[in-house]
Amino acid sequence: MTTEEEKAASDKLIKFLNEKWGNRACPMCNKGPWEVQGKIFQLSEFSGGGLIVGGPLIPVVPVSCSNCGHTVLVNALISGALQKPAETQEKPNV
Ligand SMILES: [Zn+2]
Repeated sequence: MTTEEEKAASDKLIKFLNEKWGNRACPMCNKGPWEVQGKIFQLSEFSGGGLIVGGPLIPVVPVSCSNCGHTVLVNALISGALQKPAETQEKPNV
């Protein structure tokens, strides 16, 4: 992702979290503020320490409390930080 795409993704996520979370403080330290990572990370299935290629991946954006470090992983697709790949859904299998 370019820096511009990262900025757009984190802007979308911040807007989404403002709608869904409102002004909620960190549940651990009751303070905050939250800090959104511009980059999208991925969770992959654990397989005894080996790497699964082609397995399901969950794209996530870490949101951290800047006071205590408590980190929440927000799904990048649900939050709109990442656009769903449209072409894989309706492309005919030719
Ligand atoms: Zn905290």
